[in-house]
Amino acid sequence: MSFRAPKGTDDVLPPASHTWRRLLLAWEDWSARYGYDLVLTPLFEATEVFARGVGEGTEVVEKQMYTFEDKGGRSVTLRPEGTASVVRAFLEAGAGGILKGAYSGPMFRYERPQAGRRRQFYQVGVEYLGSRAAAADAEVVELGYRYLVAAGVPGLSVELNSIGDRQCRPAYVRKLGTYLESRRDVLCDDSLRRLETNPMRVLDCKVCAPKLVEAPSPADHLCAPCAAHHEEVLTTLTELEVPYEEAPRLVRGLDYYERTAFEYVATDLGAAQDAVGGGGRYDGLAELLGGKRVPGVGFALGLDRIVLALGVEKEPNPLDLYIVVAGDRRKEAVRLASDLRRSGLRVDLDVEGRSVKAQFRAADRRGAAGALVVGDEWADGRVVAKDLTSGDQEVISLEEVQAWVRRP
Ligand SMILES: [Zn+2]
Ligand SMILES: [Zn+2]
Repeated sequence: MSFRAPKGTDDVLPPASHTWRRLLLAWEDWSARYGYDLVLTPLFEATEVFARGVGEGTEVVEKQMYTFEDKGGRSVTLRPEGTASVVRAFLEAGAGGILKGAYSGPMFRYERPQAGRRRQFYQVGVEYLGSRAAAADAEVVELGYRYLVAAGVPGLSVELNSIGDRQCRPAYVRKLGTYLESRRDVLCDDSLRRLETNPMRVLDCKVCAPKLVEAPSPADHLCAPCAAHHEEVLTTLTELEVPYEEAPRLVRGLDYYERTAFEYVATDLGAAQDAVGGGGRYDGLAELLGGKRVPGVGFALGLDRIVLALGVEKEPNPLDLYIVVAGDRRKEAVRLASDLRRSGLRVDLDVEGRSVKAQFRAADRRGAAGALVVGDEWADGRVVAKDLTSGDQEVISLEEVQAWVRRP
Protein backbone atom coordinates (compact mmCIF):
# COMPACT_ATOMS: atom_id res chain seq x y z
CA MET A 1 0.00 0.00 0.00
CA SER A 2 1.22 3.47 -0.75
CA PHE A 3 -0.14 6.89 0.05
CA ARG A 4 -0.11 10.23 -1.70
CA ALA A 5 -0.48 13.72 -0.31
CA PRO A 6 -4.17 14.75 -0.29
CA LYS A 7 -5.49 16.42 -3.44
CA GLY A 8 -4.61 20.09 -3.59
CA THR A 9 -1.78 19.81 -1.06
CA ASP A 10 1.97 19.75 -1.64
CA ASP A 11 5.02 18.26 -0.03
CA VAL A 12 7.94 20.65 -0.13
CA LEU A 13 11.23 18.79 -0.20
CA PRO A 14 14.80 19.89 -0.99
CA PRO A 15 15.99 21.44 -3.20
CA ALA A 16 12.66 23.30 -3.69
CA SER A 17 12.42 23.82 0.07
CA HIS A 18 15.64 25.88 0.00
CA THR A 19 13.53 28.69 -1.49
CA TRP A 20 10.87 28.26 1.20
CA ARG A 21 13.40 28.41 3.99
CA ARG A 22 14.91 31.56 2.55
CA LEU A 23 11.47 33.18 2.24
CA LEU A 24 10.47 32.24 5.79
CA LEU A 25 13.75 33.49 7.28
CA ALA A 26 13.40 36.75 5.34
CA TRP A 27 9.86 37.08 6.64
CA GLU A 28 11.00 36.78 10.26
CA ASP A 29 13.67 39.38 9.55
CA TRP A 30 11.52 41.96 7.71
CA SER A 31 8.46 41.72 9.96
CA ALA A 32 10.72 42.17 13.02
CA ARG A 33 12.50 45.15 11.41
CA TYR A 34 9.15 46.96 11.20
CA GLY A 35 8.34 46.12 14.81
CA TYR A 36 5.79 43.35 14.33
CA ASP A 37 5.76 40.75 17.08
CA LEU A 38 5.07 37.10 16.45
CA VAL A 39 1.44 36.07 16.95
CA LEU A 40 0.42 32.42 17.06
CA THR A 41 -3.23 31.42 16.89
CA PRO A 42 -4.91 28.01 16.55
CA LEU A 43 -5.15 26.40 13.11
CA PHE A 44 -8.88 26.03 13.78
CA GLU A 45 -11.51 28.27 15.35
CA ALA A 46 -15.19 28.14 16.12
CA THR A 47 -16.82 28.22 12.69
CA GLU A 48 -18.61 31.46 13.55
CA VAL A 49 -15.27 33.33 13.79
CA PHE A 50 -14.68 32.82 10.08
CA ALA A 51 -18.33 32.96 9.03
CA ARG A 52 -18.42 36.50 10.46
CA GLY A 53 -14.77 37.44 10.11
CA VAL A 54 -14.30 36.39 6.49
CA GLY A 55 -17.86 37.39 5.64
CA GLU A 56 -21.23 35.72 5.21
CA GLY A 57 -22.06 35.37 1.54
CA THR A 58 -18.45 35.18 0.41
CA GLU A 59 -17.30 32.28 -1.72
CA VAL A 60 -14.85 31.28 1.00
CA VAL A 61 -17.54 30.94 3.64
CA GLU A 62 -20.21 29.48 1.37
CA LYS A 63 -18.14 26.92 -0.51
CA GLN A 64 -14.56 26.61 0.62
CA MET A 65 -14.35 26.11 4.36
CA TYR A 66 -13.06 22.92 5.94
CA THR A 67 -15.79 22.73 8.57
CA PHE A 68 -16.43 19.75 10.79
CA GLU A 69 -17.94 18.83 14.09
CA ASP A 70 -15.45 17.82 16.76
CA LYS A 71 -16.06 15.02 19.24
CA GLY A 72 -17.65 17.52 21.62
CA GLY A 73 -20.26 18.46 19.05
CA ARG A 74 -18.79 21.92 18.31
CA SER A 75 -18.59 23.20 14.78
CA VAL A 76 -14.97 24.10 14.06
CA THR A 77 -13.26 25.24 10.87
CA LEU A 78 -9.66 25.07 9.67
CA ARG A 79 -8.55 28.66 9.19
CA PRO A 80 -9.05 29.89 5.61
CA GLU A 81 -7.07 33.08 6.38
CA GLY A 82 -5.26 34.75 9.26
CA THR A 83 -6.91 38.06 10.07
CA ALA A 84 -10.09 36.90 11.83
CA SER A 85 -8.06 34.76 14.27
CA VAL A 86 -5.64 37.56 15.15
CA VAL A 87 -8.48 40.03 15.76
CA ARG A 88 -10.34 37.41 17.81
CA ALA A 89 -7.19 36.85 19.89
CA PHE A 90 -6.66 40.60 20.41
CA LEU A 91 -10.27 41.03 21.58
CA GLU A 92 -9.98 38.02 23.88
CA ALA A 93 -6.84 39.54 25.44
CA GLY A 94 -8.70 42.78 26.21
CA ALA A 95 -7.96 44.75 23.03
CA GLY A 96 -5.83 47.29 24.89
CA GLY A 97 -3.47 49.66 23.12
CA ILE A 98 -1.80 48.67 19.91
CA LEU A 99 -0.87 45.24 18.59
CA LYS A 100 1.49 44.89 15.69
CA GLY A 101 1.32 41.18 14.97
CA ALA A 102 3.02 39.02 12.36
CA TYR A 103 1.94 35.50 11.53
CA SER A 104 2.89 32.77 9.12
CA GLY A 105 1.49 29.34 8.48
CA PRO A 106 -0.82 27.14 6.47
CA MET A 107 -4.39 28.11 5.58
CA PHE A 108 -7.10 25.82 4.20
CA ARG A 109 -9.69 26.31 1.49
CA TYR A 110 -11.59 23.66 -0.41
CA GLU A 111 -10.98 24.88 -3.96
CA ARG A 112 -10.54 23.34 -7.37
CA PRO A 113 -6.77 22.84 -7.23
CA GLN A 114 -4.50 24.47 -9.80
CA ALA A 115 -1.09 26.09 -9.82
CA GLY A 116 -1.06 28.83 -7.17
CA ARG A 117 -4.46 27.76 -5.84
CA ARG A 118 -4.06 24.96 -3.32
CA ARG A 119 -6.32 23.46 -0.67
CA GLN A 120 -3.55 23.90 1.88
CA PHE A 121 -1.58 27.05 1.16
CA TYR A 122 0.91 29.09 3.13
CA GLN A 123 0.50 32.72 4.07
CA VAL A 124 2.58 35.29 5.87
CA GLY A 125 0.94 38.48 7.04
CA VAL A 126 0.69 41.30 9.54
CA GLU A 127 -2.12 43.02 11.39
CA TYR A 128 -1.66 46.52 12.78
CA LEU A 129 -4.47 46.79 15.36
CA GLY A 130 -5.55 49.81 17.38
CA SER A 131 -4.45 52.61 15.06
CA ARG A 132 -6.53 54.75 12.74
CA ALA A 133 -3.48 56.65 11.45
CA ALA A 134 -2.75 56.81 7.75
CA ALA A 135 0.89 56.23 8.67
CA ALA A 136 -0.10 52.73 9.83
CA ASP A 137 -1.62 51.97 6.41
CA ALA A 138 1.51 53.25 4.68
CA GLU A 139 3.80 51.25 6.96
CA VAL A 140 1.87 48.06 6.29
CA VAL A 141 1.88 48.62 2.53
CA GLU A 142 5.59 49.41 2.63
CA LEU A 143 6.53 46.33 4.66
CA GLY A 144 4.82 43.98 2.21
CA TYR A 145 6.49 45.73 -0.68
CA ARG A 146 9.97 45.62 0.89
CA TYR A 147 9.59 41.97 1.74
CA LEU A 148 8.52 41.02 -1.78
CA VAL A 149 11.40 43.01 -3.25
CA ALA A 150 13.84 41.28 -0.87
CA ALA A 151 12.30 37.92 -1.83
CA GLY A 152 13.13 38.73 -5.45
CA VAL A 153 9.60 38.74 -6.89
CA PRO A 154 9.92 39.99 -10.49
CA GLY A 155 7.58 42.48 -12.12
CA LEU A 156 6.19 43.61 -8.79
CA SER A 157 3.68 46.42 -8.49
CA VAL A 158 1.49 47.81 -5.71
CA GLU A 159 -2.11 48.63 -6.61
CA LEU A 160 -3.95 50.84 -4.21
CA ASN A 161 -7.37 52.38 -3.71
CA SER A 162 -9.62 53.85 -1.04
CA ILE A 163 -13.11 52.43 -0.68
CA GLY A 164 -14.40 55.02 1.78
CA ASP A 165 -16.17 54.34 5.04
CA ARG A 166 -19.64 54.12 6.56
CA GLN A 167 -20.17 57.84 5.97
CA CYS A 168 -19.43 58.12 2.30
CA ARG A 169 -19.86 54.62 0.91
CA PRO A 170 -23.67 54.34 0.83
CA ALA A 171 -23.95 57.22 -1.67
CA TYR A 172 -21.19 55.69 -3.79
CA VAL A 173 -22.79 52.26 -3.75
CA ARG A 174 -26.10 53.77 -4.95
CA LYS A 175 -24.29 55.43 -7.83
CA LEU A 176 -22.42 52.21 -8.66
CA GLY A 177 -25.71 50.30 -8.56
CA THR A 178 -27.23 52.66 -11.12
CA TYR A 179 -24.21 52.20 -13.40
CA LEU A 180 -24.29 48.42 -13.06
CA GLU A 181 -28.04 48.33 -13.83
CA SER A 182 -27.19 49.97 -17.15
CA ARG A 183 -24.65 47.19 -17.82
CA ARG A 184 -26.79 44.19 -16.82
CA ASP A 185 -26.26 42.65 -20.26
CA VAL A 186 -22.52 42.04 -19.65
CA LEU A 187 -22.81 40.72 -16.07
CA CYS A 188 -22.42 37.05 -15.17
CA ASP A 189 -25.05 35.28 -13.04
CA ASP A 190 -23.01 35.68 -9.85
CA SER A 191 -22.67 39.40 -10.48
CA LEU A 192 -26.39 39.79 -11.23
CA ARG A 193 -27.08 38.21 -7.85
CA ARG A 194 -24.54 40.46 -6.11
CA LEU A 195 -25.98 43.50 -7.82
CA GLU A 196 -29.06 42.95 -5.63
CA THR A 197 -27.20 42.23 -2.37
CA ASN A 198 -23.85 44.08 -2.54
CA PRO A 199 -23.06 45.90 -5.80
CA MET A 200 -19.43 46.59 -4.81
CA ARG A 201 -18.64 42.90 -4.95
CA VAL A 202 -19.45 42.91 -8.68
CA LEU A 203 -16.15 44.76 -9.16
CA ASP A 204 -14.42 41.79 -7.52
CA CYS A 205 -15.55 39.47 -10.33
CA LYS A 206 -12.53 38.67 -12.46
CA VAL A 207 -14.77 37.98 -15.47
CA CYS A 208 -16.98 41.06 -15.28
CA ALA A 209 -14.45 43.63 -14.00
CA PRO A 210 -12.65 44.12 -17.35
CA LYS A 211 -16.02 45.05 -18.94
CA LEU A 212 -16.73 47.65 -16.26
CA VAL A 213 -13.85 50.06 -16.75
CA GLU A 214 -16.26 53.00 -16.80
CA ALA A 215 -17.64 52.14 -13.36
CA PRO A 216 -17.50 55.01 -10.86
CA SER A 217 -14.57 54.65 -8.44
CA PRO A 218 -15.06 54.84 -4.69
CA ALA A 219 -11.93 57.01 -4.52
CA ASP A 220 -13.82 59.74 -6.39
CA HIS A 221 -16.64 59.72 -3.83
CA LEU A 222 -14.80 60.02 -0.52
CA CYS A 223 -15.98 62.23 2.34
CA ALA A 224 -13.45 64.82 3.53
CA PRO A 225 -11.89 62.69 6.31
CA CYS A 226 -11.54 59.67 4.00
CA ALA A 227 -10.05 61.83 1.27
CA ALA A 228 -7.52 63.30 3.71
CA HIS A 229 -6.61 59.82 4.97
CA HIS A 230 -6.15 58.53 1.43
CA GLU A 231 -4.05 61.53 0.43
CA GLU A 232 -1.79 61.02 3.45
CA VAL A 233 -1.30 57.33 2.62
CA LEU A 234 -0.31 58.22 -0.94
CA THR A 235 2.07 61.05 0.00
CA THR A 236 3.69 58.90 2.70
CA LEU A 237 4.27 56.07 0.24
CA THR A 238 5.81 58.53 -2.19
CA GLU A 239 8.12 59.85 0.54
CA LEU A 240 9.10 56.28 1.44
CA GLU A 241 9.83 55.56 -2.21
CA VAL A 242 7.24 52.82 -2.50
CA PRO A 243 6.01 52.84 -6.09
CA TYR A 244 2.25 52.34 -6.41
CA GLU A 245 -0.48 52.59 -8.96
CA GLU A 246 -3.91 53.91 -8.11
CA ALA A 247 -6.43 51.19 -8.94
CA PRO A 248 -9.84 52.88 -9.10
CA ARG A 249 -11.81 49.65 -9.26
CA LEU A 250 -9.86 47.66 -6.67
CA VAL A 251 -12.41 47.02 -3.91
CA ARG A 252 -13.07 44.89 -0.88
CA GLY A 253 -16.71 43.99 -1.14
CA LEU A 254 -17.40 43.49 2.56
CA ASP A 255 -18.83 46.15 4.82
CA TYR A 256 -16.15 45.89 7.49
CA TYR A 257 -13.44 47.05 5.10
CA GLU A 258 -12.83 50.78 5.13
CA ARG A 259 -10.60 53.18 3.27
CA THR A 260 -7.30 51.65 2.12
CA ALA A 261 -7.41 48.54 -0.09
CA PHE A 262 -4.34 47.25 -1.90
CA GLU A 263 -2.82 44.34 -3.77
CA TYR A 264 0.67 43.23 -4.62
CA VAL A 265 0.77 42.08 -8.22
CA ALA A 266 3.51 40.08 -9.91
CA THR A 267 2.86 40.89 -13.56
CA ASP A 268 4.86 37.88 -14.72
CA LEU A 269 2.51 35.43 -13.05
CA GLY A 270 -0.31 35.57 -15.62
CA ALA A 271 -3.79 36.93 -15.15
CA ALA A 272 -5.50 34.37 -12.93
CA GLN A 273 -2.85 34.20 -10.23
CA ASP A 274 -1.27 37.61 -10.62
CA ALA A 275 -1.90 38.82 -7.08
CA VAL A 276 0.73 37.49 -4.66
CA GLY A 277 -1.05 39.16 -1.78
CA GLY A 278 -3.24 41.97 -0.66
CA GLY A 279 -4.74 43.73 2.25
CA GLY A 280 -6.59 46.70 3.55
CA ARG A 281 -8.08 48.54 6.47
CA TYR A 282 -10.86 46.71 8.30
CA ASP A 283 -12.05 49.05 11.06
CA GLY A 284 -15.43 47.30 11.28
CA LEU A 285 -14.17 43.74 11.77
CA ALA A 286 -13.69 43.66 15.55
CA GLU A 287 -17.31 44.75 16.08
CA LEU A 288 -18.50 41.95 13.80
CA LEU A 289 -16.60 39.52 16.02
CA GLY A 290 -18.51 40.79 19.04
CA GLY A 291 -15.94 43.24 20.35
CA LYS A 292 -15.63 46.99 20.53
CA ARG A 293 -14.67 48.98 17.48
CA VAL A 294 -10.93 48.41 16.99
CA PRO A 295 -9.33 49.87 13.88
CA GLY A 296 -6.95 47.64 11.98
CA VAL A 297 -5.00 47.32 8.79
CA GLY A 298 -3.01 44.39 7.45
CA PHE A 299 -2.03 42.21 4.55
CA ALA A 300 -1.50 38.57 3.69
CA LEU A 301 0.93 37.22 1.12
CA GLY A 302 0.70 33.81 -0.50
CA LEU A 303 4.02 32.01 -0.32
CA ASP A 304 2.96 29.36 -2.86
CA ARG A 305 2.38 32.12 -5.40
CA ILE A 306 5.58 33.93 -4.48
CA VAL A 307 7.50 30.71 -5.11
CA LEU A 308 5.69 30.37 -8.48
CA ALA A 309 6.57 33.96 -9.37
CA LEU A 310 10.23 33.35 -8.50
CA GLY A 311 10.44 30.41 -10.89
CA VAL A 312 12.95 27.63 -10.31
CA GLU A 313 16.13 29.67 -10.06
CA LYS A 314 18.83 27.99 -8.01
CA GLU A 315 19.03 29.17 -4.43
CA PRO A 316 22.37 30.15 -2.84
CA ASN A 317 24.24 27.20 -1.34
CA PRO A 318 22.43 25.97 1.75
CA LEU A 319 25.71 24.59 3.16
CA ASP A 320 28.96 26.50 3.62
CA LEU A 321 31.02 23.34 3.91
CA TYR A 322 30.84 19.61 3.43
CA ILE A 323 33.47 17.68 5.30
CA VAL A 324 34.95 14.76 3.38
CA VAL A 325 36.57 12.05 5.48
CA ALA A 326 39.60 10.36 3.92
CA GLY A 327 41.03 7.28 5.57
CA ASP A 328 40.60 6.74 9.29
CA ARG A 329 39.75 10.29 10.41
CA ARG A 330 36.05 9.92 11.24
CA LYS A 331 36.32 11.09 14.86
CA GLU A 332 38.40 14.12 13.91
CA ALA A 333 35.95 15.03 11.13
CA VAL A 334 32.96 14.84 13.47
CA ARG A 335 34.78 17.05 15.97
CA LEU A 336 35.76 19.55 13.26
CA ALA A 337 32.15 19.71 12.00
CA SER A 338 30.93 20.41 15.52
CA ASP A 339 33.50 23.20 16.03
CA LEU A 340 32.62 24.86 12.73
CA ARG A 341 28.86 24.57 13.35
CA ARG A 342 29.29 26.18 16.76
CA SER A 343 31.26 28.97 15.10
CA GLY A 344 28.23 29.76 12.93
CA LEU A 345 28.93 27.90 9.70
CA ARG A 346 26.50 25.54 7.97
CA VAL A 347 28.29 22.23 7.83
CA ASP A 348 27.44 18.63 7.06
CA LEU A 349 29.37 15.39 6.62
CA ASP A 350 29.00 11.75 5.72
CA VAL A 351 28.60 9.25 8.55
CA GLU A 352 28.09 6.19 6.37
CA GLY A 353 31.77 5.50 5.68
CA ARG A 354 31.38 6.01 1.93
CA SER A 355 34.24 6.50 -0.53
CA VAL A 356 35.83 9.93 -0.97
CA LYS A 357 34.32 10.09 -4.46
CA ALA A 358 30.84 9.33 -3.12
CA GLN A 359 31.29 11.99 -0.42
CA PHE A 360 32.15 14.62 -3.03
CA ARG A 361 29.04 13.64 -4.98
CA ALA A 362 27.02 14.06 -1.78
CA ALA A 363 28.62 17.49 -1.23
CA ASP A 364 27.43 18.60 -4.68
CA ARG A 365 23.98 17.15 -4.18
CA ARG A 366 23.60 18.91 -0.85
CA GLY A 367 24.55 22.22 -2.41
CA ALA A 368 27.73 22.86 -0.43
CA ALA A 369 29.83 25.86 -1.46
CA GLY A 370 33.06 24.13 -0.44
CA ALA A 371 34.52 20.90 0.87
CA LEU A 372 37.18 20.27 3.48
CA VAL A 373 39.04 16.98 3.16
CA VAL A 374 40.20 15.57 6.47
CA GLY A 375 43.07 13.28 5.49
CA ASP A 376 46.83 12.90 5.79
CA GLU A 377 47.37 16.68 6.25
CA TRP A 378 45.40 16.49 9.49
CA ALA A 379 48.56 15.40 11.35
CA ASP A 380 49.99 18.91 10.63
CA GLY A 381 46.73 20.63 11.61
CA ARG A 382 45.77 21.18 7.99
CA VAL A 383 43.00 20.18 5.56
CA VAL A 384 42.46 20.30 1.80
CA ALA A 385 39.90 23.01 0.99
CA LYS A 386 38.11 22.67 -2.35
CA ASP A 387 35.88 25.29 -3.95
CA LEU A 388 33.03 23.23 -5.37
CA THR A 389 32.08 25.83 -7.97
CA SER A 390 35.50 26.50 -9.50
CA GLY A 391 37.15 23.21 -8.56
CA ASP A 392 40.18 25.08 -7.15
CA GLN A 393 41.77 23.53 -4.13
CA GLU A 394 44.50 24.35 -1.66
CA VAL A 395 45.88 23.09 1.62
CA ILE A 396 45.01 25.39 4.52
CA SER A 397 45.47 25.32 8.28
CA LEU A 398 42.45 24.89 10.57
CA GLU A 399 42.88 28.51 11.70
CA GLU A 400 42.39 29.62 8.10
CA VAL A 401 39.05 27.83 7.55
CA GLN A 402 36.84 30.79 8.53
CA ALA A 403 38.74 33.16 6.28
CA TRP A 404 38.68 30.63 3.43
CA VAL A 405 34.87 30.25 3.70
CA ARG A 406 34.52 34.03 3.49
CA ARG A 407 36.86 34.31 0.50
CA PRO A 408 35.40 36.59 -2.21
ZN1 LIG B 1 -18.96 38.25 -13.08
ZN1 LIG C 1 -15.67 58.54 4.16
